[in-house]
Amino acid sequence: MQFEHLPHPAPVAAADREALIADPGFGKVFTDHMAMVDYDTGEGWHSATIGPCAPIPLHPASSVLHYAQEIFEGLKAYRLSDGSMALFRPDANARRFNASARRLAMPELPEDVFIDACKQVVLKDADWFPPIEGGSLYIRPFMFANEHFLGVRPATKYKFLVILSPAGNYFKSGAPAVSVWVSEYTRAAPGGTGEAKCGGNYAASLVPTGEAFEKGHDQVVFLDAAEHKWIEELGGMNLFFVFDDGSMITPPLGGTILPGITRDSLMTLAREQGLDVREERYSLDQWREDAGSGKLVETFACGTAAVVTAVGKVAGRDGEFSIGTGGPGQMTSKLREQLVGIQRGTVEDKHGWVVRL
Ligand SMILES: *Cc1c(COP(=O)(O)O)cnc(C)c1O
Repeated sequence: MQFEHLPHPAPVAAADREALIADPGFGKVFTDHMAMVDYDTGEGWHSATIGPCAPIPLHPASSVLHYAQEIFEGLKAYRLSDGSMALFRPDANARRFNASARRLAMPELPEDVFIDACKQVVLKDADWFPPIEGGSLYIRPFMFANEHFLGVRPATKYKFLVILSPAGNYFKSGAPAVSVWVSEYTRAAPGGTGEAKCGGNYAASLVPTGEAFEKGHDQVVFLDAAEHKWIEELGGMNLFFVFDDGSMITPPLGGTILPGITRDSLMTLAREQGLDVREERYSLDQWREDAGSGKLVETFACGTAAVVTAVGKVAGRDGEFSIGTGGPGQMTSKLREQLVGIQRGTVEDKHGWVVRL
């Protein structure tokens, strides 16, 4: 599929752009261009463009506004030490996007179109790359249903888009460990949409996350829906538990957990070093007990946006407990350095994860 490059009538002036990317934060600044591809039943995917990042007119009956057929992905373009740019495992994002599409009764997008859209828009807006330590271009591919129809069934029209947001480094090494709140709400139930990356899951997590903030914590921990006992995820990140013998546990996938690409990459890196990494259920009670006895030495969360974040304090209805020293532990720091090193080209990429642009 060929992307048609549309002219931009008024790109942001260079001086304004430089001011915006000097300290972009996360998710606030957007670049000049976006990729867009349309889908209709019958015609399939068509009209691929790289054009101005601009509002999209939507009919008020557009089905996404009513029944939330929407999925998304999140990945980053990194600057390698030699100055070139690269994506990290975009094929894994393309595959997961299609898994989400199947669960939400949406059409799959050819993986090469997904990857090409990401690459082309990044190359087009390369001068938006933040010139700061640890900066990146956050890439947000997404798809939504936009048929004008209020009946409840899968829509016949969709749009796929890719937008870019320059991002700062909010995972500076030595960042303090986060404090987390164990929620009474659940994020995902067996048979639900927990393993799909869909906007609806996030809408449902806003109240529990707000509750965690109100109580003075940084993030929310979700337990399983059936027994309210087993630890599942931390907000939009996967969790790992590190023990005093060097072994690690992460909750097993199985429908209610989002299959994180960072999770998968860290498991691979840890196993390569001979560490015993188990995908195994781990309960809140066991977490508290092991943190108390010293058997559990570290807990960290991982995801594309913040890479690896240490968990220092856990609070819930039954009181609170601390983990290790309350700051990032050795394993957390080591794994973060290795992964960031591969992403930036300073550590050898043995798996072909880094895709140069
Ligand atoms: C995206 C996401 C993750 C992390 O996935 P990565 O591929 O590592 O970025 C974890 N949990 C949820 C709920 C997510 O949406």
